Amino acid sequence: MKTQIGIIGAGPAGLLLARILQMNGIESVILERRSRDYVLARLRAGVLEQGTVDTLRAYGVNERLDRDGMPHEQTTFYWNERRHVIVIADEAGRRLTTYGQNRIVEDLITLREADGLPILFEAQVEALDGLTDRPAITYVQDGARKTLECDFIAGCDGYLGVSRRYIPDADAHSYLHEFPFSWFGILAEAPPKPEKRGFAHHVRGLAVASARSPRQSRLYLQVDPDFEIDSMSDDQIWDELDLRLTDETGTPLNRGPITEKSVARLRAFVCERMQHGKLAIAGDAAHIVPPSGAKGLNLAVGDVRLLAEAIGRHLRGDDDLLSRYSELALQRIWPTVHWSCLMSEALHVFPGQTGFDTRRQHMTLDHWINSETGSRRFREAMLGLPYAV
Ligand SMILES: Cc1cc2nc3c(=O)[nH]c(=O)nc-3n(C[C@H](O)[C@H](O)[C@H](O)COP(=O)(O)OP(=O)(O)OC[C@H]3O[C@@H](n4cnc5c(N)ncnc54)[C@H](O)[C@@H]3O)c2cc1C
Repeated sequence: MKTQIGIIGAGPAGLLLARILQMNGIESVILERRSRDYVLARLRAGVLEQGTVDTLRAYGVNERLDRDGMPHEQTTFYWNERRHVIVIADEAGRRLTTYGQNRIVEDLITLREADGLPILFEAQVEALDGLTDRPAITYVQDGARKTLECDFIAGCDGYLGVSRRYIPDADAHSYLHEFPFSWFGILAEAPPKPEKRGFAHHVRGLAVASARSPRQSRLYLQVDPDFEIDSMSDDQIWDELDLRLTDETGTPLNRGPITEKSVARLRAFVCERMQHGKLAIAGDAAHIVPPSGAKGLNLAVGDVRLLAEAIGRHLRGDDDLLSRYSELALQRIWPTVHWSCLMSEALHVFPGQTGFDTRRQHMTLDHWINSETGSRRFREAMLGLPYAV
């Protein structure tokens, strides 16, 4: 089989890249190791920067987003049993929108399939060849070993994918930081309360309350790295969330059936080499951020916008942008990684933490809420400015 661009991975990065290329008259084939059902059921992120919403609109991925996306203009911090509201929307009308990553993935797959364009599910990529000359992807599907020849390969295969290892010296140009805790996430059929939405800094650890839809709440608890997913009953989970999110009103969360549970280790990772010959990597294949800033999906969208432009020019014989792809992408990646780590450092309880450490964390939160410069910094970072896609 032959195509112009071989894309590894049907996550948001690979699917959106294929869509942008398609709108620019460039054909691609997507190879995805998981089944279609598995990919559609994967929950993950849900907070979109304005730049991400604008990008999805620009490429026609907005019918359901415009109908069901939930704009939000402020967030809340809870600590010392008090509630502190901070405005995120700015005077230019930019704000955040809640719309699940699983729905973006479904929208992109539906559009691609309606156009009769190829996504090969359960196609596990095993090797890449000819990266400086004639690229080829070897994959296994239905027990058979097959080859996809292409002009260029986009590795959008996530943190555990194969493509990064084909970039020479990628490990030597990578940085990994592991945080000493995980996030235990639940999805619940419980209408989120607007006044109970935000980040709690509590002596027992962080808690996050967010929405997935008018009927679904997405909630997180900081837990130890060795936390067992079934070690808490549903009542214990709700009690712990209410305890950490306590405020002066005493309002509890709306409770409802818990339909999904997951545990994710918090880490930050950046590979500074994102391109080699006719291979480039994008999204989680190149970087991971701790979820406190809700930036992973937004960063992936920024990468593929840039990469689509670089690939288009490369096919027309101009390699200038492609040769600067890593440098330009990193100008947005590093500040975002830094911000996501700052959020994590301010909100979690660390092993051996002292009262002094906690007071300093409160000072950081107080700065974001009560000082003009701190509020502006917080707003710009949450909106993805000045590094917006
Ligand atoms: C468990 C988890 C929970 C998360 N929760 C949040 C959250 O709550 N909030 C937030 O903001 N962000 C969250 N994120 C981050 C966000 O979801 C990611 O940044 C986003 O998914 C990045 O998209 P991507 O397309 O780059 O990678 P992915 O979504 O990981 O997609 C990569 C795709 O490549 C496929 N693949 C991998 N290897 C191969 C191979 N060899 N052959 C073929 N296909 C392959 C994978 O199956 C996958 O479909 C979470 C991430 C994870 C992993």
